[in-house]
Order: sequence, then structure tokens, then C-alpha cells
Amino acid sequence: MEIKRNVLLNPGPSTTTDTVKLAQIVPDICPREKEFAGMMKSIREDLVKIVHGKQDEYTAVLFCGSGTINIDICLNSLLPADKKILVINNGAYSTRAAEVCAYYNLPYIDLKFPVDELPDLKKVEETLRQNPDIALVYTTHNETGTGILNPIREIGALAHKYGAIFVVDTTSTYAMRPINVYEDNVDFCMASAQKGIMAMTGLSFIVGRRAVVEASRDYPKRSYYCNLFLQYDFFERTGEMHFTPPVQTIYATVQALKEYFAEGEEAKWARHTRVFEAIHEGLAKLGFKNVIKREWQAGLVVSAIYPDDKNWNFEKVHDYCYERGFTIYPGKISTTNTFRLCALGAIDVQDIKDFFVVFEEALKATGVIVPVIYNK
Ligand SMILES: *Cc1c(COP(=O)(O)O)cnc(C)c1O
Repeated sequence: MEIKRNVLLNPGPSTTTDTVKLAQIVPDICPREKEFAGMMKSIREDLVKIVHGKQDEYTAVLFCGSGTINIDICLNSLLPADKKILVINNGAYSTRAAEVCAYYNLPYIDLKFPVDELPDLKKVEETLRQNPDIALVYTTHNETGTGILNPIREIGALAHKYGAIFVVDTTSTYAMRPINVYEDNVDFCMASAQKGIMAMTGLSFIVGRRAVVEASRDYPKRSYYCNLFLQYDFFERTGEMHFTPPVQTIYATVQALKEYFAEGEEAKWARHTRVFEAIHEGLAKLGFKNVIKREWQAGLVVSAIYPDDKNWNFEKVHDYCYERGFTIYPGKISTTNTFRLCALGAIDVQDIKDFFVVFEEALKATGVIVPVIYNK
């Protein structure tokens, strides 16, 4: 079977291998069969392994849904009664977490920082000191909207110093940028199958401390479908998801995990890094400016500022590239007009070189002056 190869430079879903795509074509199966439960058991163990957790201390719980379901589940499930959440917020994804808190009426502090700056750890500590009822500290590892990398090791250490658990949205770093839950002070992290592990959409997972999940048995139940303990407990007792799993995505995930371990953590990170460097090089040659200081970037997302050229039209450039098999993506900052090029997925430097040929053509075809111009 021939499948057209597209190079996705959006922040997920990512470009996948044909072997992962084809792994979805299997005989029909009822997911309540033992054979199917066995696959989910191996996936759960592999997901803990990726972040170097010990199987008796960390567990992975799978859910059917896009990545945002993890944010919802962690926040509504892991807060004891009469306690508070601290969201360290310097971007769109942590803002999403604050919104989840608001929707569930959870007591929370939204500690905001500018989207192009790192959180001020002194303010974080001051907030923890002044609010001894904070039981859960939350942030985003790589704010995918801008590509800024937050100092999770330091934030996690502060959370622990003040007796709180630390939950990190690692959706856009997990299985790309190496994470070690012990060294990085992470109690809970999360991702979905279509990003770092380069599988398909529809499967999301939370990796976290077993003892905390078990303690959460007695926490207030705020959602029926999206409760971490209930799903964990069902998995532990039966090996199955409480409700219907995304069957074909599970098959793709088994294959993707095989490919992940075959490539290896270091080699994969090295590949993403060289793709990221190639993106920077291509953009720099065309004169584009970055939003985030280079040394603060997570190494996976490049946010470029729209040039001050009257002919610049993101949609037109996007469409030109899309028709030729390359997808570029708008930014997610309310104050600055940006677009993003991401280093996720089964791509390498040659794909980026090929992309920049097309991208430069797109600029010229739409009348944009190259190298691009900025007024200041
Ligand atoms: C992609 C992503 C998510 C999940 O988004 P969905 O659209 O629900 O899959 C969550 N957090 C971060 C940081 C992400 O990059």
C-alpha cells in the first residue's frame, strides 16, 4: 500500500512511519479479549520506562481522548478536599489548566508570568510559603504555544519542600526531550500518543506515583468519566480500560513504542535537536526573528514573528506549502502574531531542507520580500 508522506511541522499530531500507520490494520477484535488487555499492560509498562520510573513506584494510566483530557483528569482527581492548586502559568497550556480549575470550581491560584519569560522562582516559593494549603503544584514543561522550556526540576523541588505534589504537562516533551521523574522531581506527567511517541490520535496517558493515585481513592470524586483512581483501579483489577479503548490506536502505539526503544532515547533526542537546528538555520537565512530567547527554548518548537511586509499572508503561505506536503502552524500568543515550526515526529534534516525550498518559493510567489523585513 502506498501512503503519501506529509511532513507535519505543526505541534502534533506528528509525522508517523508507515509501519505505525499500517499497524492499525488488524482483524476486528473485541477489546475485552485477554490478548488486547495484554497489549495495554505492555504499553503501560513501557510508558513508565520512558521516564525512568520504577514499575512499583510509578504507574501509567491510559485514557481515550486527546491530550487535554490528562490536564482535566490530573487536576480534578489529585486534589484532596479543602486544599488548593498552584498553577505556574506562562503560556496557553497552563492557562488551559487554570480554566479546568475554574470549571470544576477547584480552589486555585493562577500565578501568571509573561509568555516569553521564565517563571520567577522566588515568587513561586513566596506563594507556597504564604499558602500552606497548596497540595498540588502544576506547570507545563514545554509551553508549546511559544516553545519556552520551564525549569521543572527546580519547581518540583520547591513543591516538595512545601509538601505539595508536582504535576507537569509534558505533552510536548515526553519521549522527545529526556525526562527522569526522580531527577526532575516529577510526581505526575502526561502526554498523548500522537506527539512524542509518534503514534496516532485518541490515546492519552498519565504517568505518576502509584502511592498518590491510591491515596486519591478517598479524594472528592468530581468527574465520572475523567477520574484517575477509577481508571487506575479498573486497570489494576481487570487489565482493561473502564470504557471502550481506541482499539486501532492501541495497535499503532505498540508498534510506535517498539520503534521508540529501537531508536533509543538519546538518538531520538539528537535527531529532534538536529531538526530543530535546521529549522533555526532555515529561518535565520530568510531573516525571521524568534519570539523566545534561544537559550530558553525547549528545542522542539520554533516561534517566528510575522514579518512587517504588506504581502505577508500566513494562510497563503500555509496553503502553498500544504499543497506540496508540508504543514506549518499559526502561533498561540495573543499579543504577537507568530507562526510555528516544530521538530516533532518521524522527520529528519533532509525534510527540513526540502521544506525550506518550498517555503522560500511560497514567500516569493506571494510577493514577500526575502530576506524578510521588520520595522524594528
Ligand atoms: C498538544 C498539547 C496538549 C494536548 O492538546 P490536545 O489538542 O488536547 O491533544 C496539552 N498540552 C500541551 C503542552 C500540548 O502541547
